[in-house]
Amino acid sequence: MINRNFRKIINRFSGLHKLKEMKDNVRFKCQKCGFCCRAFPVVATKKEAKHNKLLIENSKPIIKNLRLLSKKKNECVFLNEKNECDINNSKPILCQTYPFYYNSKNKKFYYDINCPGIGKGRKINLEKIKNLTLKFENQISKKELELRYLLIFEEKIKKEKIKL
Ligand code: SF4
Ligand code: SF4
Repeated sequence: MINRNFRKIINRFSGLHKLKEMKDNVRFKCQKCGFCCRAFPVVATKKEAKHNKLLIENSKPIIKNLRLLSKKKNECVFLNEKNECDINNSKPILCQTYPFYYNSKNKKFYYDINCPGIGKGRKINLEKIKNLTLKFENQISKKELELRYLLIFEEKIKKEKIKL
């Protein structure tokens, strides 16, 4: 059953990602603006949290295999005053891949144009983004995967008629 909190999240955040399909490899360097750690609800899988005491203590279950990270004053609890992540080496997979998304349904890559780090720094490693995404997807159920797609790719799903 879908937790009411998750429904709320979907209703509130669907379409917030301004995704653009990646045609060529894109450059990226985080500008430490903190946007992504404030704007979005951040989830970790139950498996990820199991090995990370800080994640367990600062998140709550929202659906069988997913936990929602806590926020303080509308920002992730792990975001510090320098706009850096206090758990950078063990942050959730979805934080590791942002601002990039691999859509395993249509096998295309996207990036979020909201992120000011796009176009700066080095070319990103697409294989790494893909592998991390698949690792995340392997840790959640089919239903949870559908919800994730609803949340992230809602507009794309409608436009490109991707079947869930
Ligand atoms: S929005 Fe982009 S530049 Fe800003 S903190 Fe997140 S990843 Fe870094
Ligand atoms: S865990 Fe770190 S990278 Fe992820 S939202 Fe929180 S502060 Fe940002």
